[in-house]
Amino acid sequence: MQFIDTHTHIYTEEFDDDRLMVMERALQAGARMLLLPNIDEASIGPMLQICQNYPGVCFPMMGLHPTELPSDPWPLLDRMEQLLAAPNNPYVAVGEVGIDLYWDDSRRNEQIAVFKHQAQWAMRYHLPLMVHSRAAHRDLVDTLLPMKDELTGVFHCFGGTAEEARELLDTFPGFVLGIGGVLTFKKSKLPAVLRSSVPLNRIVVETDAPYLAPTPHRGQRNEPAFVPLVIDKLAEVYELPVDNVAQTLMDTTKAMFNI
Ligand SMILES: [Zn+2]
Repeated sequence: MQFIDTHTHIYTEEFDDDRLMVMERALQAGARMLLLPNIDEASIGPMLQICQNYPGVCFPMMGLHPTELPSDPWPLLDRMEQLLAAPNNPYVAVGEVGIDLYWDDSRRNEQIAVFKHQAQWAMRYHLPLMVHSRAAHRDLVDTLLPMKDELTGVFHCFGGTAEEARELLDTFPGFVLGIGGVLTFKKSKLPAVLRSSVPLNRIVVETDAPYLAPTPHRGQRNEPAFVPLVIDKLAEVYELPVDNVAQTLMDTTKAMFNI
């Protein structure tokens, strides 16, 4: 089986001791490409280093994560935009960006403004948007609505209801849902949501490594080599051969990220 992990943070310190082995296992498991969303300013260097070490395999994104806003995010946003504006830059998407009100909603308005600003980069530089949304469904829809016909991207780690899935896919025709380890959890409602409301061609797969490892690795560090466990579960959910599912995911991903 071949796959692309569309959302993996393998540049974080969780992988410092054995990153070579993690990459080796990923390639052995069938990973053809790994897409790396940025988090903050400190993550840019390590992320770019890995992408240089694995040309044609690891591709970076550029963006500021909603839980990582400095006290004044705007100077950093200007520096990030300069990276996206540079000729021949390596970035395949704007991300990881979005709204996260789960632990802390005290900067809600600022999160929304920063998200909107970065969504406009995606339009300006013709890149897909890698969206993080937690406890923020309505704000997410409202913020992106004026750009719905021009934007493409991924609602990463989708974990909402069937109604929310349908609303996102109907409202934003250029978007797909990012599905990862949560699909395999024993009490997950996601299989039923996908089966009832999400066509297979509106899905891409991801790890969100080091987080959210699929069963039977739940609670451990996640890594790209575990993606086939998610694809196996998708094959079960959609009652299709695994190879067909893997091919559909691959086609959707390549078209989305232009890789
Ligand atoms: Zn992430």
